[in-house]
Amino acid sequence: MKRKVTTADATVTQALEEALKRFASNHHGKNASYIPYLASVPSQLFGISIMFCDGTHAEVGDTDYEFAIESISKVFTLAHVLDEYSPQTLRSKIGCDPTGEPFNSVVALELHKGRPLNPFVNAGAMATVSLIKAENPQVRWEKIQATYNAFAGRELSVNEEVYKSEAASNQHNRGIAWLLQSYGYMYADPMEVCAVYTRQCSVSITCQDLVTMGVTLANGGVNPLTGKRVLEAKNVAPILSEMTLNGLYDTTGDWYYKVGLPGKSGVGGGILAVVPGVCAIAAFAPPLDVAGNSVRGQLAAEYLSRTLNLSLLH
Ligand code: GLU
Repeated sequence: MKRKVTTADATVTQALEEALKRFASNHHGKNASYIPYLASVPSQLFGISIMFCDGTHAEVGDTDYEFAIESISKVFTLAHVLDEYSPQTLRSKIGCDPTGEPFNSVVALELHKGRPLNPFVNAGAMATVSLIKAENPQVRWEKIQATYNAFAGRELSVNEEVYKSEAASNQHNRGIAWLLQSYGYMYADPMEVCAVYTRQCSVSITCQDLVTMGVTLANGGVNPLTGKRVLEAKNVAPILSEMTLNGLYDTTGDWYYKVGLPGKSGVGGGILAVVPGVCAIAAFAPPLDVAGNSVRGQLAAEYLSRTLNLSLLH
């Protein structure tokens, strides 16, 4: 696949440079440590990218460093599943409401008789993976991979070191997968699904990839760099609704209050904000707050939303 980018104007570039300067010395937060590999990623890394729907872009810092996509993958697997099912089916089988509990909560599942409530908590993400129409795990994985590649406009790869680290420490997710099965919300073999889910979290991306994936949503489902339609335009709004309500774990409301944009973060330190019809912002900085969101990534997104007047609420 061929990607073509040109540079955004000077105001935008200056705003990114200022964000990097202001927040690079913020050392709050800690790398995720429950997945051993993530604890070893250098904490000072910091990259910020913005891309507009016409493909113009700007970037500063460590935007070509490859990091694990983690929870942000949930957005793009959802995009694939929405192409196979109607948004109504997704809402009834999974949902679009916050659980009010941490992203890997078993309590939340028990409280709602196994209904995951949304596709961005681990239970909902695994239920989403299990809905993919596939006769075996290989086909399931290939569909996910093809979708991510189309969003990024290039062939992404799995970081096998991350995968091994996660697969060796994902007992909690395996428990959730069995619980979903027991309640009737798991639509394929639970352990195969958990393995595919773990693999999707281990896909390596850069800030440049993430911003391209995000701007494809902003652009109504067409990747501006490849010119290819990646998902039907009607499926963008359901995805952005989920990002608006559930994108930043337990502090999604706080994020929306400050940034005013649908977002999604991952414990690998990546964070994405989408401005429908305009652009996407992606940032990467490994240290996370207690909710699991990149500290510097949130600050950069908030600064850019305010400086470039991007909030949907203004
Ligand atoms: N692989 C991670 C997990 O399943 C992803 C979590 C995240 O980024 O929120 O725990």
